[in-house]
Amino acid sequence: MLLVSAPVLGVPEKVALSKVIDSGWLTMGERVRSFEEAFAVMHGAEDCVAVNSCTAALHLILYGLGIGPGDEVLVPSLTFVATVNAVLYVGAKPVFVDIESADVPLMSIAEAEARCTSRTRAVILVHFAGYLADKAEWQAFASVRGLYIVEDAAHAPGLKDVGTFGAGAAFSFYGNKNMTTAEGGVVITRDPDLREKIRLARGHGMTSGTRQRLNSRTPQYDVTMLGFNYRMDEMRAAIGLVQLRNLQEWNEVRRILVALYRRLITARCPSITMPFGEPRTSAYHIMPVLLPRHVDRQCVIDELRAQGIQTTIHYPPVHQMTLYRERCPGVHLPRTEDFAERELTIPLHPQITSPVAEAVVDALAAALEDAARAGAAA
Ligand SMILES: *Cc1c(COP(=O)(O)O)cnc(C)c1O
Repeated sequence: MLLVSAPVLGVPEKVALSKVIDSGWLTMGERVRSFEEAFAVMHGAEDCVAVNSCTAALHLILYGLGIGPGDEVLVPSLTFVATVNAVLYVGAKPVFVDIESADVPLMSIAEAEARCTSRTRAVILVHFAGYLADKAEWQAFASVRGLYIVEDAAHAPGLKDVGTFGAGAAFSFYGNKNMTTAEGGVVITRDPDLREKIRLARGHGMTSGTRQRLNSRTPQYDVTMLGFNYRMDEMRAAIGLVQLRNLQEWNEVRRILVALYRRLITARCPSITMPFGEPRTSAYHIMPVLLPRHVDRQCVIDELRAQGIQTTIHYPPVHQMTLYRERCPGVHLPRTEDFAERELTIPLHPQITSPVAEAVVDALAAALEDAARAGAAA
């Protein structure tokens, strides 16, 4: 099966893992610190905080900003549920905002403006599919209203601009992301006070970790705030250090594959449209395409699957799922809903070669013809 996403793992990761085991120190040691330093350097940041997921990173940013009950946070619905859950964790209210268009499926500033109230405190921007939101426009929007910008950067590691929009950015190293630590995440924030607060909150609010106590004369520690256990371990950091060395190269392979897909799909599947027609800075996390309205998407998915090609959907809109319908009833986002009904994500990862990409597009073209015929016959 050709997967939508697959991690690149090999001997260097195995060696790095063995060294951790040989070292006898498994969590929050020198590898976690080295990983933080290397990740910060790649993003032109002074420092960052490694955690055990992007979900934890998002939670810590909102928590560190003091967002809580009575506050509202603007969120997209075209995202993974974690973006919205982080808002619920701190007791704030997520306010869903529609996308700009099928061509630019990022949060619409005009819609965001319409949903602002006196209780709005922050906006979470998702760099959907790796394509960056418009920094200058969002900064103008946020500064006029005194809002925090939080970036859900799960799709966009490796880009210099990510983490510079506002209060902080959350990254994911889950197995299907551009780089992986199996599970893992990072918070980048330019604000040193917020960063130290987040660093404390990552480990129960304890003023020193096990490692620091080993290196210092006193075994004492204090707890100065309510924290969480969102720590990263040495195995993950060791894998992350290896993966990070390849990230720019992998993102470049993704860019080339997306350009190839675009050319092939335009030529061979003329009824398919692709978002982000205009060039835009991207980490090319996924390859979303939009099927024509009359096509039965499930037929296309089934036929590709029969050919050994996995496809997925990014995303089933969050506001339409049971929990969020209960918590935030009556939300209607026509552009998000239309996009999500037609979207199909085709395989994109650094191990895909040009002939494989061609085979995917040929299979897609054939599946579309069959689905159109089935639709006409029905
Ligand atoms: C993967 C993902 C997350 C969650 O990341 P975890 O590391 O699994 O917690 C959050 N937001 C988006 C947009 C994602 O794609």
